Amino acid sequence: MSSEGADDGFLLLIVSSPSGAGKTTLCTRLRKEFPELRFSVSHTTRKPRPTEVDGREYHFVDTQHFEHMVRDNAFAEWARVHGHLYGTSLNEIEIARGSARGILFDIDHQGARQIRAALSEAVCVFILPPSMAELERRLRGRGTEDEQATLRRLQNARGEIEHYGFFDYVIVNDDVDQAYEQLRAIVFAERCRRPRRSGLCERLLAERRGER
Ligand code: 5GP
Repeated sequence: MSSEGADDGFLLLIVSSPSGAGKTTLCTRLRKEFPELRFSVSHTTRKPRPTEVDGREYHFVDTQHFEHMVRDNAFAEWARVHGHLYGTSLNEIEIARGSARGILFDIDHQGARQIRAALSEAVCVFILPPSMAELERRLRGRGTEDEQATLRRLQNARGEIEHYGFFDYVIVNDDVDQAYEQLRAIVFAERCRRPRRSGLCERLLAERRGER
C-alpha cells in the first residue's frame, strides 16, 4: 500500500464506532452528500442481513475465501470483529485512488490502526452514543441481530470505547442531525488542511512565475 501523502488532495476518512452508535446512518448521509468520496466495500464472513446486497454493503464471502485473500496479501487491513472476519482489500483503495477524491472506510478500531500505520494521513473519526443505556436501546431497537449476537456486541462496546484516544475526532451521536453536521464539518475542514492544498498553492505560484 503506497502512501502518496496528504498533498495529493485525496482524503482517507475512517469512521468507527461501537455497534449501535449510528455510524451506518451517518455514513449513508455522507455518501449521499459527498459521492466523490468512494465508500470502501469490505469483505466479510458475516452473513448478509435481509436488506443488504452483495457488493454494495459488503462483499460476502466464506471463511475459506477470506483466508485465501489473507494468504495472498490482498488486504490493506483485516480483523476479527464480533466473531466474524472483516477486511479492506487493497483493490478498494486502488480503485478509489484512480476514480475518486477520497475514500470512506466504515471499519473498527483495529482496522483504523492498521490503515493509519500504512497511510499516516488517514483521518480517524469515532462516533459514540450519549450513554451505554442508549446504545443498548438502539441496538435492540434495530433488531438486526439475534439475542446472542446483540449481547456480544454490547459486551464488546466497552472494549471498543477504550480506544477513543487513538482517534482524531469524537462525535457524540445524541441528535443525529447535529452529529451529521459535525461529521460533514470534519470533511470540509480536512479538505482545507494545508498539505491537501499544496498542489493548488504550487499551481498558483507556477502561474505567477509564468506571468513574469
Ligand atoms: P456490521 O457487522 O455491523 O456491519 O459491522 C461490525 C463491525 O465491523 C463494525 O464496527 C464495522 O465498522 C466493522 N467493519 C466493517 N468492515 C470492516 C473492515 O473491513 N475491517 C475492519 N477492521 N472492520 C470492519
